[in-house]
Amino acid sequence: MNTRLPVRRRIFVKGIVQGVGFRPFIYRLAQNHKLRGWVLNSSKGVFVEVEGAVRQVDDFVRSIRSKSPANARIDSLHISKLPCKGYKHFTIRESVMDRGSTLISPDLATCSECREDITKPGNRRKGYPFTNCTNCGPRYSIIKITPYDRIHTTMRSFKMCRDCALEYQDVLDRRFHAQPNACPECGPKVALYRINRQPVAAESPIDKTAGLLLQGKIVAIKGLGGFHIACDATNESAVTRLRRRKGRPHKPLALMCRLADVPRVARLTKPEALYLASAQAPILLLQKRKTRILAPSIAPGNPYLGIMLPYTPVHHLLFKQLKFLVMTSGNRQDEPVTIDDAECFASLHGIVDYVLTNDRPIENRNDDSIVTYSPLTAFSILRRSRGYAPDPIDLPMKLAPTLGCGGELKSTFCMARSKTAYLSPHIGDLENFDTLHAYQQTLEKYRRWFELEPEVVAHDLHPDYMTTRFAKSTRIAKKVAVQHHFAHIASCLAENLVEDRVIGLAFDGTGYGTDGKIWGCEFLVGDLTGFDRVAHLAYLPLPGGEASIRHPYRIGLAYLLYTRKQLPNLPFVKGTRTSERRAIEQMLETDFNLAFTSSLGRLFDAIAAILGVTREITFEAQAAMQLEYLATDRTVMSYPAEIRHEDGGFVIDPAEIIWGVATDIKRGLRTETIASKFHNSIITFSIDTCKKLRQEYNIRKVALSGGAFQNRLLLEGLVRELKKNGFAPIFHQKVPYNDGGIALGQVILADRG
Ligand code: ZN
Ligand code: ZN
Ligand code: FE
Repeated sequence: MNTRLPVRRRIFVKGIVQGVGFRPFIYRLAQNHKLRGWVLNSSKGVFVEVEGAVRQVDDFVRSIRSKSPANARIDSLHISKLPCKGYKHFTIRESVMDRGSTLISPDLATCSECREDITKPGNRRKGYPFTNCTNCGPRYSIIKITPYDRIHTTMRSFKMCRDCALEYQDVLDRRFHAQPNACPECGPKVALYRINRQPVAAESPIDKTAGLLLQGKIVAIKGLGGFHIACDATNESAVTRLRRRKGRPHKPLALMCRLADVPRVARLTKPEALYLASAQAPILLLQKRKTRILAPSIAPGNPYLGIMLPYTPVHHLLFKQLKFLVMTSGNRQDEPVTIDDAECFASLHGIVDYVLTNDRPIENRNDDSIVTYSPLTAFSILRRSRGYAPDPIDLPMKLAPTLGCGGELKSTFCMARSKTAYLSPHIGDLENFDTLHAYQQTLEKYRRWFELEPEVVAHDLHPDYMTTRFAKSTRIAKKVAVQHHFAHIASCLAENLVEDRVIGLAFDGTGYGTDGKIWGCEFLVGDLTGFDRVAHLAYLPLPGGEASIRHPYRIGLAYLLYTRKQLPNLPFVKGTRTSERRAIEQMLETDFNLAFTSSLGRLFDAIAAILGVTREITFEAQAAMQLEYLATDRTVMSYPAEIRHEDGGFVIDPAEIIWGVATDIKRGLRTETIASKFHNSIITFSIDTCKKLRQEYNIRKVALSGGAFQNRLLLEGLVRELKKNGFAPIFHQKVPYNDGGIALGQVILADRG
């Protein structure tokens, strides 16, 4: 072969190659290698044709992989040989997009080059809080309609100045086709107000804000996908004031600080540091260090701190002066995050003192995502939103256009078509009409953006969920109810592309069962076409039904009374008024106002109450969290649980666990040891049950899903024991364990089940 003769190659690249500066990268690379041809964006991926010397072409192909832009991800690269065409130049061709397949990139944290731009003396963007480029900045939060062009975003009203326009048009510039490109000359501006709407005059509103925060003031700060409520995290009186005003007595508050300061307050492993500093920039739950730097009431009684790094230029500029900020969602309890100024002034009145806002409207609400890491199970997402949504999730099979409406708490919806699912960002607890409104708005947008007309709508089996009623009110002809825990396990299988039959462990708080009872510790056997429930925790009574969820001590009393018809002489029992004890006794005797549940979450509640750890809760899963954090003993002891054969399946009776705990308290065993023994007990009965099921069904793969797996002790302990016992555990990476993931499971089971 004559190496001097030119060759022509067509290269097809799939992965995350749009909105990340991939075409300019290819263009520059082709110039460097003196190649001619073109590059083109399509809905399937990026196509490239190059013509030139064979060695240059080979180098070029190698460099596509080795030198690709930071936020690009190459999933596959396919090369074909073609006869030469005699191209004269290298050009960027007009994009070719299929109907409805437009990719909308998530918002990305400010890149290092932009960070330099805003700090370097002499740079025209020094101190400019809306600096961005093709590698970073707002995307999802500013888009109105597709395709993603400036006129279709909230940047439409800002006309680019000459300098910005030149950057935008220059293929070799980092800001080539950066839709939100802006500078102090032409872009959005920040402004500071008192909460009574009075403007605060300041040469630099950001510096002024930093000063106010240092004085202990509480400030609403407009971010990418909504307002945050911020205060100095080292100032205890500011933090307690924020808690009191927001009506949030216990729930941990998220922090923001620079990467270099993280190790001062939390343990940070290498993979965690990389993840924190990623373009997704989520809140990562890190192990707290003993330190006096932070206000004690940030995350009381919690061994973890939720930390994120500054991810917008506004944050970076604030952190010139600040070290640690509380950054919590800017909303009133249970309402969606505030995104516009008028709403902010109205709804955060009485909570914040000042508002740092700007004139770039937020089109789409987008909360901070929350992630945890463990060496055994890698990263799990607790809240999937900014940085992740609306990235598509690949499915193992083709689906008809389907909408999954999700659950009630931590709700999301999912739209799927063919082999792709679009899971919405976290919307919130659908318990009020504001959240429902936000849900419907986002749904309408997804429909438009992805041009997806659902032919099937899937909803939870629970008749009273707002999402169920919403599904029933749509005009979509085919409506399918999907059992909550079946959806949980299906979501886990789908994101792992597993089509085999598995044992599924759905450990959860609440889910409506096919028998009308409240499920929540379910062992399933099946695959993505459907599941059978083959084992579960025994049914126990909830006095007053689901209303008892906020009062764990009532569940504790009921579980003790129901399993042995008596109450032990424990401090927690004595701490309850006689009239209340009687009322529960009467409910059990008369069967009046009782619901029955196999929920693992409720067992956690009962044990936490019996231990005297938790009487009442103010946020979901509070008792389970307190019990998890208490379980620091390395004991291998556990309480026995009888596994009975019943109705062709197995029933796990926790009576001996409940009474074992009571006995240990009387014996004076340390609370820490009892909490650890309780965790061990769940792992033990789970492994025992899995072994019985393996014998019966000959299945080794075990999928784990459900909100209870947010408990790391439980997740890691179970994964470890499953492996040790020859099982192959399958767990979540992309979709939450909690109800934020069930919409994905719903679409699959509705279409295939
Ligand atoms: Zn940038
Ligand atoms: Zn400009
Ligand atoms: Fe659930």
